[in-house]
Amino acid sequence: MSREVIVIGSGPAGLTAALYTARANLNPLVIEGLEAGGQLMLTTMVENWPGHKDGVMGPDLMTDMRAQAERFGAEIIRGNVTAVDLQSRPFKVTMSDGVQHESRTLILATGATARLLGLPSERRLIGHGVSTCATCDGYFFRGKPIAVIGGGDTAMEEALYLTRFAAHVTVIHRRATLRASKVMQDKAFAEKKISFEWNAEVEEMTDVAKGEVNGIRIRNVVTGDVKTLAVDGIFVAIGHTPNTSLVAGQLETDANGYLVTHMGSRTSIPGVFACGDVQDHVYRQAITAAGSGCMAAIDAEKYLEGVPQHLNE
Ligand code: NAP
Repeated sequence: MSREVIVIGSGPAGLTAALYTARANLNPLVIEGLEAGGQLMLTTMVENWPGHKDGVMGPDLMTDMRAQAERFGAEIIRGNVTAVDLQSRPFKVTMSDGVQHESRTLILATGATARLLGLPSERRLIGHGVSTCATCDGYFFRGKPIAVIGGGDTAMEEALYLTRFAAHVTVIHRRATLRASKVMQDKAFAEKKISFEWNAEVEEMTDVAKGEVNGIRIRNVVTGDVKTLAVDGIFVAIGHTPNTSLVAGQLETDANGYLVTHMGSRTSIPGVFACGDVQDHVYRQAITAAGSGCMAAIDAEKYLEGVPQHLNE
């Protein structure tokens, strides 16, 4: 049976696309990956989701979004998509167990994955003082010392943003020069609240036993010196990887590998739409992802109705 809509991904973008297409009677199939719920599953309190004046726990928000989409008829299955064929019509989506689903439209909401250092202590403390999003979590560290890891534009942007709240921000970078653009470097160097630890590798984040961050142990790769900085928050800002491997070579991407969208959520193939962080490396917020999921649903609906979509159609 060919579907009208398949949504791949179950973060705020995918579940909003599911809600809207379900309410448009398009009976969407949502394939939630093994990391169902997306990046909000890694956070604790979310205070910038409108309508929850006292905040909402990230996992609770995703549970509610999922239930809301199901209430209107979205069918949600858990599984690992191994291949997507965008050359044939209907589009074909193959699962790891060999099952193949077909659909007239496809909404890609596979997100982006924040790169992590890979330390066991980092994994244990994420959401408990370790964060990958200053806009989301900076507010929790008012008057506290914070560390930011990375030397690119994202790290500088996060460090500068965090100076609004933090008592002090220490940027920890593994080399002696920044990768960030000159303008961002100049801004960071001019900010009195920011200092730098150069040639520094992170050895461990503490305190796993207490379940909260109180320090970070770093090693100077030139001198071998080891020291511990007392910090209450650690922001890992070493880049994001858009989750596009399924459609690699089939859709237009930008220089950083993000899917390119035109006129809303339209990708380079008519009938294929993209929303959320897989096509957005600028805003990366749950609310913007949800907004773009709504756009993808409406764009897919219009496509199915035969409304001309692409300028070249
Ligand atoms: P990026 O440019 O790839 O920088 C990543 C940084 O993290 C680098 O300094 C890198 O160190 C460091 N890093 C990577 N892996 C590491 C590891 N395992 N351990 C320690 N450090 C590690 O990523 P980005 O800063 O997210 O930027 C991505 C793109 O978006 C860039 O093109 C950037 O210009 C753009 N962007 C622009 C703005 C803006 O203009 N306002 C803001 C954000 C992003 P090395 O330097 O040693 O490789």
